[in-house]
Amino acid sequence: MADDDTQREAVRAAAENVADRLEEEKEYLTDLDSAIGDADHGANMSRGFRAAAETVADADDAEPADLVKRVGTTLISEVGGASGPLYGGSIMSASQAFADDGITAETSVDFAEAYLDKVEDRGDARIGAKTMVDALTPAVHTYKKSIEQDDLSPLTALAKAVDAAERGVDFTVPIRAEKGRASYLGWRSVGHQDPGATSTLYIMEELLATAKEYVEGEIERDATAVEEPDEDPADVADDGADSDADGEGDT
Ligand code: ADP
Ligand code: MG
Repeated sequence: MADDDTQREAVRAAAENVADRLEEEKEYLTDLDSAIGDADHGANMSRGFRAAAETVADADDAEPADLVKRVGTTLISEVGGASGPLYGGSIMSASQAFADDGITAETSVDFAEAYLDKVEDRGDARIGAKTMVDALTPAVHTYKKSIEQDDLSPLTALAKAVDAAERGVDFTVPIRAEKGRASYLGWRSVGHQDPGATSTLYIMEELLATAKEYVEGEIERDATAVEEPDEDPADVADDGADSDADGEGDT
């Protein structure tokens, strides 16, 4: 993605767009978290990303990787609870992917994979535990496959990843929470949408909106059929509440 200045600007714009969006969605995220948690997710995310956007807005000379890292460190210090270290720590460590070559199609796949790995590690959650991992896993797998195997443009790949994340969010509704506060509710968590999966989707939507401004190319909507993730495809496609999940999971 172009030169360092453009990359820096894109990171700042992304942080700003995410902060704005999470502020808009603050009440809704809080409502989701009040149903199966402690009603702080909207405030947590909104406060954290606003602080992160302010931090990177002031950093003129940092490398793109360093800016992304600062988003992570700011989230860690501003956001408590489960989501602070999960979002912040994982962004912080995945930012390494941009250290050598900046932000490119390839390094963005590395970032996405490293981010998912870290979230899984830190939270000890896998797909199906009704957490942010349920949105993230299909999104990351779709993004990687779209770029590495299907040779789609980064913008198209990201648009597909957003679609996959959306199906992942729907998938959290009918399942039982096995991690985080929601797991204390056991079966009573069934029927509620996971707040962290939802904020993950919003963040990805804003990354896409930002990428549309900074990354050249068009989104080829019908480039290929909708992809299911490489692993656990049946879990996402077949068990979700999502009525448009038409895949059988075979790729
Ligand atoms: P807290 O649960 O501490 O109040 P938040 O309300 O900010 O923190 O975030 C809750 C979200 O964090 C959940 O909706 C879920 O997506 C995510 N989460 C909680 N625990 C885990 C975990 N162990 N692994 C992955 N994600 C988790
Ligand atoms: Mg909470």
